[in-house]
Amino acid sequence: MIELTFWGVRGSNPVSGKDFEKLGGHTSCVSVSVNQDPIIIFDAGSGLFDLGKELYASSPSTVNLFISHLHLDHIMGLPFFPPLWDRKWIVNVYSQNHNLEDTLRNKLLCPPFFPIFVNDKNSNLIVHDIVPDTELHIGASKITTCLLNHPGGAIGYRLEAEGHSICYITDVEHDSNGLDEGIIHFIKECDLFIYDSSYTEEEYVSKHGWGHSTHIRGAELAKAADVKKLALFHQNPTHTDMISDRIEKEAQVLFPNTIAAYQGLKLRF
Ligand SMILES: [Zn+2]
Ligand SMILES: [Zn+2]
Repeated sequence: MIELTFWGVRGSNPVSGKDFEKLGGHTSCVSVSVNQDPIIIFDAGSGLFDLGKELYASSPSTVNLFISHLHLDHIMGLPFFPPLWDRKWIVNVYSQNHNLEDTLRNKLLCPPFFPIFVNDKNSNLIVHDIVPDTELHIGASKITTCLLNHPGGAIGYRLEAEGHSICYITDVEHDSNGLDEGIIHFIKECDLFIYDSSYTEEEYVSKHGWGHSTHIRGAELAKAADVKKLALFHQNPTHTDMISDRIEKEAQVLFPNTIAAYQGLKLRF
């Protein structure tokens, strides 16, 4: 059995307040549990804090954290992830960035951005540079990657296990000339397609080059790739629940099996 949980669905920065209660305020973090295998996590946004609290209440184990890229909204939860600071836990961090080890150890998990230095006495942090076009295996899961069009680059992930597939595609700017054939091929016929829905079509007009996409483009990709379900993700922090409702309905016109992902949503396959 696969259980997927959204711990944070916002892009850019966390939000709070009554206008954001339905979708929640944390930034990008999604966990996937396959049977009794070690947990797989996509991105370490502020949602990782809640996940960390829940995980840390269970027996120590191994965590596999796949980072799309190092923009703050995707890593801001890492310093506050309790398993990272307990050597009884093993925290594997994967990404495709040649300076990942140096960035985490010497730029993020250390002063002046954090009170203490991460080291081999206080943490079992293991950093893995993903080699392009290779596949990784975590228990029963196979994970493949694709490069996304985003300033500085970002990585999309496809997880396959137990005959099901989940694609995590966020922080990607679509091609104005048409649908991205590479993404269509990568997400082909997956069970769940999680997609960067940062902007409305009107907002995107003044946001070319910022590296994000729209729910309309997500629905078009979902249809073209014949996926089973679309989850609108990386929701704009300026989008109130009322705006998100409208966005969800607009996407559903093009692709009926669409849901605006919200914090706390669990999906089982
Ligand atoms: Zn982002
Ligand atoms: Zn980004």
